Amino acid sequence: MHKIMAVNAGSSSLKFQLFEMPSEDVLAKGLIERIGMKDAVISIKTHTGKKHEEVSHIADHDQAVKMILEFLISLEVVKNLKEIYGTGHRIVHGGEQFTGATIVTPKVLAKIEQLAEFAPLHNKANATGIRAFQEAIPTAKTVAVFDTAFHQTMPPASFLYSIPYRYYQEHKIRKYGFHGTSHKYVSREAAKFMNRDLKDLRIISCHLGNGASLCAIKDGKSIDTTMGFTPLEGLTMGTRTGNIDPAVVPYIMEKENMSAAEVIDVFNKKSGLLGISELSSDLRDVTSAAQEGNYQSGLALSIFIKRVRETIGAYAVEMGGVDAIIFTAGVGENSVIVREQVIDGLQFMDIKVDKNLNESNENRGSTRSISSFNSKVEILVVPTDEEVEIARDVLSLSNQG
Ligand code: ADP
Repeated sequence: MHKIMAVNAGSSSLKFQLFEMPSEDVLAKGLIERIGMKDAVISIKTHTGKKHEEVSHIADHDQAVKMILEFLISLEVVKNLKEIYGTGHRIVHGGEQFTGATIVTPKVLAKIEQLAEFAPLHNKANATGIRAFQEAIPTAKTVAVFDTAFHQTMPPASFLYSIPYRYYQEHKIRKYGFHGTSHKYVSREAAKFMNRDLKDLRIISCHLGNGASLCAIKDGKSIDTTMGFTPLEGLTMGTRTGNIDPAVVPYIMEKENMSAAEVIDVFNKKSGLLGISELSSDLRDVTSAAQEGNYQSGLALSIFIKRVRETIGAYAVEMGGVDAIIFTAGVGENSVIVREQVIDGLQFMDIKVDKNLNESNENRGSTRSISSFNSKVEILVVPTDEEVEIARDVLSLSNQG
């Protein structure tokens, strides 16, 4: 039995979960927000029901990590820090170098920082998290788990853009894809649930949260995904455009007197459900406004659903069929309407949802089937758990090395 910590460090926040492995029991979890500010907030909960919440000045990630570790001792989750066998860190961008989780050496850390070129805010913060934990628990093994790694199995026909080839060769401009840890986790859970070998399955995983992406998974491997060079590509999201004609960029720049960076900022933060509805980026708000007859909210919901549905069609073609469709993340796990309407257009492919199962609250929080008895394709709701996937990677890599 080993205690393993999954860490997600942002530029001003740090989330963690401490697991007992291999049982995957959560011993403690917590969040620190507003790192660097006078009113930073720390909150920690343990499996025994103990809690700690505090608002105080937290200067930097080093201090945040020290506080977390002190609380784990004072809340009696661990007796000393040597009990923490390993830490696994979520890293947003692994470029083409990292095709799976990796033990962090000084060289690996340098590479992660170099890849900040592709994800400036994220990779730097992720690397800061690694350093802080290495300093605080030098005995623990450190593993990096990349959002992009799962998609490194995509063939060139999926990951290349139709732009001059040398842009790929010289600047590595290509589709990388994100949410890989989630797509990997839910596809494995789906195979377990179906009692089938991943190698025999063609899966379409729909990770629908604030950020959203679909992934085509054949033989357990990602062969295509909707997010691209950045997480802006693909589906309509809470505040992101998804696919758009790039010629729109210079046109808006001219009409609105904006810089390219400002237009991309609008595409990232003020578009998607929020942009179309002019009301909210939250699918719950958009859905209820649509149900009350708000035209733009109805439109936002329809566009969101249409893109998911048409991509399911595209991926089914790409894989020569589909055995399972997975819904996961905030919207995928909770929105009855989205699941129903996405599948509603797919009956001609013998993909059918069972209305009662889809609406049922039974077995919420665990993997469940919502497909109709005569559906040729299994439709599953699988709660995602990127932290467990990170802890699994730490355990398997540490056992190897
Ligand atoms: P992220 O991790 O990308 O920030 P989440 O996976 O938490 O996002 O998903 C957030 C989205 O899930 C929001 O749009 C929210 O409206 C939606 N969501 C959460 N709960 C529900 C629910 N009960 N019904 C419909 N949508 C929901």
